[in-house]
Amino acid sequence: MNGYNEPLLTIDGSRGEGGGQVLRSSLALSLITGRPFVIEHIRARRKKPGLMRQHLTAVDAAAQIGRAEVTGAVPGASRLEFRPRGVTPGDYTFNVGTAGSTTLVLQTVLPALLLAEGPSDLALEGGTHNPLAPPWDFLAKTYLPLVGRMGPAVDTALVRPGFYPAGGGRFTVHVQPAPRLSRLELMERGELLDRHVRALVANLLRHIAERECRTIAQKGGWDEARFSIEEVADSRGPGNVVLIALQFENLTEVFAAFGQIGVRAETVALRALDGARAYLKAGVPVGPHLADQLLLPLGIGAHFGSGGGMFRTMALTQHATTHLGLLRRFLEIDARAEQAGRDDVVVRIG
Ligand code: ATP
Repeated sequence: MNGYNEPLLTIDGSRGEGGGQVLRSSLALSLITGRPFVIEHIRARRKKPGLMRQHLTAVDAAAQIGRAEVTGAVPGASRLEFRPRGVTPGDYTFNVGTAGSTTLVLQTVLPALLLAEGPSDLALEGGTHNPLAPPWDFLAKTYLPLVGRMGPAVDTALVRPGFYPAGGGRFTVHVQPAPRLSRLELMERGELLDRHVRALVANLLRHIAERECRTIAQKGGWDEARFSIEEVADSRGPGNVVLIALQFENLTEVFAAFGQIGVRAETVALRALDGARAYLKAGVPVGPHLADQLLLPLGIGAHFGSGGGMFRTMALTQHATTHLGLLRRFLEIDARAEQAGRDDVVVRIG
């Protein structure tokens, strides 16, 4: 896997979802295939287009792990060239430097480390519970256990949460790679085994978390015995998140909503509950966020051997359809989605 001799693949960052995901997934796919790429019009569909702090951290993380030559990695840049020279597992610390999402940085480098020649230990610093990004709990309960079912063993521990705008969170990850990613099928979720609601408050009144839990118990008709409230002791700034974990026989899904100045605790709780209810109603195993994130390991598994797989999910988001397009650019695989109903879509990879 040496990107120097291969022609540059050109990725249009304004296509589809047109945000940071196109960049991060291109980095992940370039690392794993060794294919160099140039991305143009980076985050062109966002209000503030171009590379922002958390995207630069993802580029830097990918460059370190792939010993890559990078051109154009400066704040605000709309064009970047990335030439990887081979994945190097090991010990790394990636610090976003702001409250930008650390879980998205992890998802950039994780695929390459899953198939690397040795184990890795990572520490990630910045935001761990950000709106519009996977909260750490989603990684720990939903995403990584499914990756584990494909062969590699990935453990994570939350040292302390980091919230927008102060950041300062930290989590660690240990990756024990596998020689290949095996097939994953998620067509049914099985019986609902447990429902757990966790409300976190950092440097804010406990009362906020209590109101959130009460709202979910009342509106959802759920038993408050499975609820927990956590007051974070060593957070750099204020923060609040409500996490609903639904544990089924075949997977656990996590739905989150974030406290915001000017938004009532009851409203925050209802946002999390609405996400969980829409998923419960759909009856499919894979929720909308998990769907777009599963495509990468499934595509890589299919490209390198007998992996890949299929899953049933809700209506595909633009992140998911953009991801499908990117997989087809970097990988030699068949990636298709068939719509059986509005919230019943079957995705087949490989
Ligand atoms: P930009 O600022 O360019 O929009 P970004 O880099 O902040 O982009 P996105 O490109 O929007 O991020 O990607 C966000 C990713 O986070 C997607 O993969 C999405 O599925 C995931 N995500 C967002 N919210 C959640 C959530 N509540 N649970 C799990 N995953 C989530």
